[in-house]
Amino acid sequence: MATQQLPLTYRPAAPIWCAGCGHFAVQGAIESALARLDLPPHEVVILAGIGCSGTVQNNVGTYGYHALHGRVLPAATGVALSNPSLTVIGAGGDGDGYAIGLGHLAHAFRRDVSLLYIVMNNETYGLTKGQHSPTHDPPVAYESHTEASLDAVALGLSVGATGFIARGYSGWYEQLERLTVEALTYTREQRGFAFLEVISPCITYRDAYPEWEHALVDLEAEADYDPRDRAGAFARSVRLREDGQLPAGLIYRDGREAGTPRPSPAHARTDLAVMHDRYVELAAAYT
Ligand code: SF4
Ligand code: MG
Repeated sequence: MATQQLPLTYRPAAPIWCAGCGHFAVQGAIESALARLDLPPHEVVILAGIGCSGTVQNNVGTYGYHALHGRVLPAATGVALSNPSLTVIGAGGDGDGYAIGLGHLAHAFRRDVSLLYIVMNNETYGLTKGQHSPTHDPPVAYESHTEASLDAVALGLSVGATGFIARGYSGWYEQLERLTVEALTYTREQRGFAFLEVISPCITYRDAYPEWEHALVDLEAEADYDPRDRAGAFARSVRLREDGQLPAGLIYRDGREAGTPRPSPAHARTDLAVMHDRYVELAAAYT
């Protein structure tokens, strides 16, 4: 029987997001980056979490996987390790990635597996109608306590991430598209973890476009900013937040050049093969 040739398209389904949602720009940047890098859809996997942003994997015509709530990164790590020839993108929202999934994020920074994780941060749980998320700013005040807002970029810098850390904004599409291309290129050439947070406003429950226009500071416009200086990046990030602002652009990138020796996909495969053999051995011993 003849094999059916699938059309080379990145857009099999229409998004279901509200008109004006920031996620449209993120999806556009992903599609554009895949096309610019000439990546065939069958060599790409997008894994997404639960939330409005999680539907992005339905909309882009690559392989896709809808992970359990907060579990995008473990699943994406497994895909990247088991088939290193694939380009792997994890995607989700701030509720999914920074609340229930936060532990996985800290370890993904440390683990440095070759994949891109995009978090669409809108400071809210849009899918469940607008509750405050961990990034909500200003801090949320309750009768008994106040909850400060979480900064995943500062977290990554503080736990010693090697890799690529950037923050884009749906309202700055040109930069967002370029950062997505650079982040994907980093995962493919340096074989490391790339983190791209996108400020992606929820126009229905937290229309913060005007606030972000004032709060975001594009570090790429600062001539003396050095994204290879981790300590400098951390200090700049913390200081800006103390002033009610947030850094954007390429914030940190390690100095590894493409092809730098490091734990290779071949090692990862060997590890998996050893683990598999060990599992078979143990299973045989217990039956
Ligand atoms: Fe986007 Fe908010 Fe609508 Fe969800 S509820 S699709 S996050 S605008
Ligand atoms: Mg959200």
